[in-house]
Amino acid sequence: MSSETSQCGDLNPKGVALVTGAARGIGKAIALRLASDGFAVAVNDLPSNTGSLLEVVEELKKLNVEALACIADVSVESEVQIMIEEVIAHFPTGRLDVMIANAGVAKWNTLIDTTAADWDTVIRVNARGTFLCYKYAALQMIRQGGGGRIVGAASICAKKGVPSLGAYCASKFAIRGLTQAAAQELGPHAITCNSYAPGGISTDMLGVLASGNAADSGGTPEDYYEALKARTPLGCIGDPADVADVVSFLASKESRFITGQSISVNGGTYFD
Ligand code: NAD
Repeated sequence: MSSETSQCGDLNPKGVALVTGAARGIGKAIALRLASDGFAVAVNDLPSNTGSLLEVVEELKKLNVEALACIADVSVESEVQIMIEEVIAHFPTGRLDVMIANAGVAKWNTLIDTTAADWDTVIRVNARGTFLCYKYAALQMIRQGGGGRIVGAASICAKKGVPSLGAYCASKFAIRGLTQAAAQELGPHAITCNSYAPGGISTDMLGVLASGNAADSGGTPEDYYEALKARTPLGCIGDPADVADVVSFLASKESRFITGQSISVNGGTYFD
């Protein structure tokens, strides 16, 4: 059966995508990749990253797509609602076709050194923030009809506990569970819900983890990177583009029969 006659719903290939946490790192790479794929792209980040986010918008416009910056904290319900309203109002189609709930934070701390405040911060941004983005994107997609793609940022830490990343692992396991539940609820609306589960990807976040590891072990951040490489059959750390390429597929109409999955992008460090 050709893609033209699939029974699993279709997607406007020139639709509107929203990427959270897109001022840098993986989110920025996803935004640029989706623009190359032909999507109009709205990018989100915190007020403190407004300058970098506006630079991303300029890069997107150079790819000849419409682009919009939406400043919002994804863990604040009213800000997520307003962000989605801004997207619907700005782009001529009045639609949201692809939601990439990418924003996240990590803290490197053992269980006994993790404060309740650390725990709350990580769970609030990663789990609550992803929940809010999934919920309000799904509401809009159901309202407008025609299906859609919802994609979250899980992690290798959503599949296997990692020492000194307990709160982060808990938040990412939550995203994986939410993704599986949402996929079942949203399937009848032809909306797929998946997540990507990267291993070590070269971004500011990985730098934070490398510094935390170095402080604990008495080594250097470089030791952490070398240890990550040694655990990876391909012998390297990933780049944001390695994740963006997978998200490009998850956002495409060709991924229509994939839902509820958390796709590993980890160089073979961990097998499901
Ligand atoms: P990063 O820290 O480089 O970028 C994250 C972006 O999210 C930043 O621009 C930050 O300002 C933004 N952000 C943080 N809190 C926010 C909030 N409340 N509202 C809106 N924006 C917010 O991180 P990254 O490495 O690019 O990671 C992107 C996603 O991928 C995260 O969810 C992360 O957990 C996940 N991930 C990263 C790796 C890795 O090795 N880098 C591995 C697995 C999963």
